[in-house]
Amino acid sequence: MEEKSNKSHVLVLPFPVQGHINPMVQFSKRLTSKESVKVTLITIDSVTKSMPILESGSIKIHSIPHNDETPPQSYDLFLEWFHVLVSKNFTKIVEELSDSEYPVKVLVFDSITTWAIDLAHDLGLKGAAFFTQSCALSVVYYHMDPEKNNICVFDDDGVCLPSLPLLQKQDLPSFVCQTDLYPSLKKLVFSRNINFKKADWLLFNSFDVLEKEVISWLRTQCRIKTIGPIIPSMYLDKRLKDDKEYGLSLFKPNSETCMKWLDSREIGSVVYVSFGSLANLGEQQMEELALGLMMSDFYFLWAVRATEENKLTEEFMSKSKEKCLIVNWCPQLDVLSHQAVGCFFTHCGWNSTLEALSLGVPMVAMPQWSDQPTNAKFISDVWQTGVRVKAGENGVVNRDEIASSIRRVMREEKGVMLKENAIKWKKLAKEAVDEGGSSDKNIEEFLKLVIN
Ligand code: UDP
Repeated sequence: MEEKSNKSHVLVLPFPVQGHINPMVQFSKRLTSKESVKVTLITIDSVTKSMPILESGSIKIHSIPHNDETPPQSYDLFLEWFHVLVSKNFTKIVEELSDSEYPVKVLVFDSITTWAIDLAHDLGLKGAAFFTQSCALSVVYYHMDPEKNNICVFDDDGVCLPSLPLLQKQDLPSFVCQTDLYPSLKKLVFSRNINFKKADWLLFNSFDVLEKEVISWLRTQCRIKTIGPIIPSMYLDKRLKDDKEYGLSLFKPNSETCMKWLDSREIGSVVYVSFGSLANLGEQQMEELALGLMMSDFYFLWAVRATEENKLTEEFMSKSKEKCLIVNWCPQLDVLSHQAVGCFFTHCGWNSTLEALSLGVPMVAMPQWSDQPTNAKFISDVWQTGVRVKAGENGVVNRDEIASSIRRVMREEKGVMLKENAIKWKKLAKEAVDEGGSSDKNIEEFLKLVIN
């Protein structure tokens, strides 16, 4: 009889955008810290071409070629293209990577690629869905009606769902209220419920005390494992040696310029501004933001992606020189942990939110789309580590609102309370991932399961 290997090769399939790659790479590093587990991250050539190679001894990368065919730019078309490409290649990849010592046993797939569970099961592998968003989001989506593509009941008072605070329209994920902007993406988001039924494990980048009631409720419906916050070890528990960066960046950070500039600023005097890797601000919004930042009269470090840069006027660029540093991409974790940074002006992407909570930085929340409005609601009302800007009737947040929100966090009484809360969450985040913490225990448990 063939002997069963107690070692395992785990394949990890993130959806290839920065906010999904970061936590899944980081989780892979944690898995591969055990000798019994080998990890290969599956991605596509257009991603690996723009990335530095990971250090040896860490996770391996398998890049799927697409013959120089440029992936479609639109999300919707890209989703389908990615689905077809991975499906065509998956069996071959598993055959190539499996060996008798480390047989491929498990696929950890991005929960947005709902179709991946079938690929895994068809080949006799187990499948773990990895959620790169909060548990609260899953509770909202859990109550979506996939047929009608909408939430059950919604009236003027908002939506009341189990374990969640009352959510107004502005607090709901954009897919719920905005119809048909990204039909395929919306369909996939809602079909995530398939994961709850089919996946062998559900992994969430969150931690128990952060979303206590939400997680308790989800656990009455399905077995979920919280394994977060998944950020490089040096910023939290420091147990993975030299682990300071996620490791796979689609953008090149201007690290030296940023750190040098921050080094010359006083403690808590700088506002760090970033809208992550995907959000595009309208031209009018960009102008109001630029003027609001100037009006606040604090120093600011602003990450403006190259594709957004043309929205900044020459007048602003010359007037703001003394007050700010504008770069295309920042080493965000280094920036957030720099003592000069007093507040994070953020779009509230889930990674950015967890990073700010883990590093104890108070926030000004200016959500744009997807899960960000719901994250902003939790930041301002539940965790109370930030204030949320209010948009005008035209949907644009004006310069006065921007400047006064920054002042509330940086200067006023409210800011002191936010900072205290931020420090409290930082401590709790560390406890969760440190030895014996709730997330640490769940990862250890998962590691035992993947080798069987
Ligand atoms: N990030 C970075 N430098 C920047 C802006 C963002 O390293 O200048 C990283 C950030 O640390 C986070 C990720 O990019 O890990 C963005 O993920 P998030 O979920 O916050 O937002 P998304 O890009 O998915 O909207």
